[in-house]
Amino acid sequence: MPSGFMESKCPECGNKNREACNAWAYGSPVKVCKACRAEYLDRRFREVAIDGFDPRSNNVSLYVKGTLFLLALALVCAGLLYFQMGRGYYSTKILIVAIACGLGSVACAVMALRIKLGFQDKANGKFMAESEARLRDPAYVRKLEGFGYKVPEKYKSR
Ligand SMILES: [Zn+2]
Repeated sequence: MPSGFMESKCPECGNKNREACNAWAYGSPVKVCKACRAEYLDRRFREVAIDGFDPRSNNVSLYVKGTLFLLALALVCAGLLYFQMGRGYYSTKILIVAIACGLGSVACAVMALRIKLGFQDKANGKFMAESEARLRDPAYVRKLEGFGYKVPEKYKSR
């Protein structure tokens, strides 16, 4: 899974907190400031047991469309390059766009395959288990409710 970093600003002290996250920002939205220890909410993170999964993460046709679209663009650029080379020159910009579209197309195809083959479901299952584990802590549930989350009954009855 591609991953990256997300930065959020502490509302108490203004410290910028940086943390690793997965591509869909699945994880606890409750952040603890590394500088002043204040707790705050970062709504960009999805508590999947409550918020559900990002609909894009299981949308095969979106990625198939992306693959085809980028592939078409790459082919158009390749055609253009071929035409230019026939005339003894080529544009580096078009070459870069062609390569970028080609790589993007492959990335979309990989995502589509991941979903098709069930790898995404497996990854989602892991994120759901982590999310449910957090919600087993009544203190955490109260915290989320304090932040205005609608926590499903099944997590409150414990
Ligand atoms: Zn702070």
